[in-house]
Amino acid sequence: MILCVPVRCNDRIIGALGGSYNVTALSQMLFNDIFDDAGYSLIVTKEGEIISYDGEPSYHKITYGDNFFDFYKDRTLLSKNSLVNVKKDFSAGNDGLIKIRTDSNKKSDQYIAYTQLGMNDWMICYVIPVSDTQNSYSFIKSYEGIFMSVFCILVLLLVFYIIHNNRIRNEELRHDAQTDGLTGVLNKRTTEALINEILEQRPHEKGTFIILDVDKFKEVNDHYGHAVGDIVLSTLGQTLRNYFRENDIIGRIGGDEFVIYMCKTESKERAVTRIRALADTIKNLSFAEMNGHHITISIGIAFAPEHGTCYMDLYKNADTALYETKQNGRDGYFLFQKQDSII
Ligand code: GH3
Ligand code: MG
Repeated sequence: MILCVPVRCNDRIIGALGGSYNVTALSQMLFNDIFDDAGYSLIVTKEGEIISYDGEPSYHKITYGDNFFDFYKDRTLLSKNSLVNVKKDFSAGNDGLIKIRTDSNKKSDQYIAYTQLGMNDWMICYVIPVSDTQNSYSFIKSYEGIFMSVFCILVLLLVFYIIHNNRIRNEELRHDAQTDGLTGVLNKRTTEALINEILEQRPHEKGTFIILDVDKFKEVNDHYGHAVGDIVLSTLGQTLRNYFRENDIIGRIGGDEFVIYMCKTESKERAVTRIRALADTIKNLSFAEMNGHHITISIGIAFAPEHGTCYMDLYKNADTALYETKQNGRDGYFLFQKQDSII
């Protein structure tokens, strides 16, 4: 569109001042890329005269020379009422949105959105197939679905992570509550409870109950200090854990006193052989903190169910046997014998 005004001087025209703007470029500028170039845009005077249009040709039939209102009226695309309302909006420069149907097929429905251009009294309209606007909506909806799924997965992962962490924490707390901090074996309460549990659940199964006490441990403390004594106890705990099977019960029940319950004892002889080998293993431990000195242990042994069917009975009898070991010069073992006869 070209605009030109004369320049006058003393009622004489001495020149002309002009300029132009491209209304097609304007409609392109406004609507490019909306809905992937579907639909088209129009700049229309308020009387319905087409100033400019732009958009994919396959979408529109209207062209220069058509009147916007007549075009839709002739094709009975707009009802009389709608047409009156649109005309009113155009005259008043109001925004609006109407739906039109170009044939009986619902798929061919279109929206016309219009608003004032703002520079003058022209209206700018955008015509878009309804299906295209819904495509975009379903595109957004499918993204919404993906975002929701990802969000739900993340929430689930977080919940699993919290449950998993709680389980680990509970396991740690349970382990701490059952374990002797210095030696890593079970504490007295848990040792007693677990041995009683085995004896109750499998009353006829043969087992070996062992009490093990470090010989002259006070002297270790006195000579090398309490801290070295702790190292000896903790090494002893570690050695016992390495030596016995996973389902045997190993616990510290006093200062330098340990209880071991060996499940499923096949024969007393085999059990004793194993205990003797343990005593040798411990005797061979060399402690750098004690200038390479060694420790010895005294052991008392009782057998289940022969010498007792609960922790307390087995403990008493194994302790009687331990007493005998101590009395007989330590560094050895005794088996409990009924009628107080000790081997
Ligand atoms: P025996 O051969 O008769 O067993 O003599 P012993 O010196 O080993 O005597 P007893 O078994 O009665 O002594 C146990 C000592 O263990 C007494 C105590 O000072 C020491 N003790 C108890 N608990 C701990 C501990 O946690 N750390 C250290 N370092 N010493 C402990
Ligand atoms: Mg001792």
